[in-house]
Amino acid sequence: MSSGYQRRQTTVVDVAGVKVGGTHPIVVQSMTNTDTADVDATAAQVRALHQAGSELVRVTVNNDAAAQAVSAIVAQVDVPIIGDFHYNGHLLLTKYPACAAALAKYRINPGNVGAKRRDENFRTIVDVALTHGKPVRIGVNWGSLDQQLLTEMMDENASRPDPLDARDVMIEAMVASATRSAALAEECGLPHECIILSAKVSGVQDLVEVYRRLAERSDYPLHLGLTEAGMGAKGIIASAAGMAILLQEGIGDTIRVSLTPRPGGDRTEEVHVAQQILQSLGLRSFTPQVSACPGCGRTTSSFFQEMAEQIQGHLKQQMAAWRGRYPGVEALRVAVMGCVVNGPGESKHADIGISLPGTFEEPKAPVYVDGRLKVTLKGDSIVADFLKILEEYVEARYGATTGSVAR
Ligand code: SF4
Repeated sequence: MSSGYQRRQTTVVDVAGVKVGGTHPIVVQSMTNTDTADVDATAAQVRALHQAGSELVRVTVNNDAAAQAVSAIVAQVDVPIIGDFHYNGHLLLTKYPACAAALAKYRINPGNVGAKRRDENFRTIVDVALTHGKPVRIGVNWGSLDQQLLTEMMDENASRPDPLDARDVMIEAMVASATRSAALAEECGLPHECIILSAKVSGVQDLVEVYRRLAERSDYPLHLGLTEAGMGAKGIIASAAGMAILLQEGIGDTIRVSLTPRPGGDRTEEVHVAQQILQSLGLRSFTPQVSACPGCGRTTSSFFQEMAEQIQGHLKQQMAAWRGRYPGVEALRVAVMGCVVNGPGESKHADIGISLPGTFEEPKAPVYVDGRLKVTLKGDSIVADFLKILEEYVEARYGATTGSVAR
């Protein structure tokens, strides 16, 4: 683990066997975008998200049909399902006890439990959680922040001799909404160890600020995520930028990357991004990592890019089988470098690496294993030869019979 990293001390919440908080691995979660009432489509997407590596999956439970579908979905999948409730959670959870029993956790948005009967409705959900022995996530979102609380805090701020700026009050209101709701839940009898908090915003700096304050003022596990992160590179980069700062400070016990998929796009992308954030920070390992140089004028042919792509593709393809057969292989580091400038050095730092010949260099590719030159490949079968060495390395190092590589 990188120096300076220290995980924040929290309680541990058990979500149907998945432990969130404490020193447990930071949990990757995701959310479906199918109509929950469509049991088969939702179960299929849950399975796809789980297969991609999501350890918890949330589904919206927004109406009677969705609530009625939940137990059938849960019966078809092998991953804890979280119910996302807004406005009518108190009604649905009491009207459909099978739904309440089947879900592994309830997400309550304190800004969306009703204006007039806010606390009463909140208590009703907490009572259902108590009845069924379920944990809850109190999930504040700045897009649906409790307006009554925000107005009170804005008014209070306005009467101060040194008023804070509006952003500061908004952040304080988000923290207060989460912590006051947690206190109310505990007053209703919900154990301290059954509560996870989140307070999501869509701006990176706001995210960092709100979570730092939440982390300072409570020991509940925190669900981390940038809300409405957006599409493509923007969503990925903004999520990574915000979460990386907090994760490095030890803040965050479960994460979700809220990407907007392209029409017809792959929902599992959000899982891969979440995993990559954690693996890039050295916090968890999910899949072998390929370090490849960006290429430059020394790699004028596309051979280098093609090889990097083939190796990456090979690793991805093999992982399904390797995961069971080779415990620990997810931490493997492979280097594919374009020329002699940084190639040998980077390759030596990886578990296994190859340094390809750059333009005008002698057509040979040294392969390094555990920091030592193993062989120099030449000719037309460099890729195939390298993959063979890679396979042998994986078998020798992670295979059950040998347990360690011959060095
Ligand atoms: S390793 Fe070589 S090819 Fe790759 S970026 Fe550096 S100088 Fe360019």
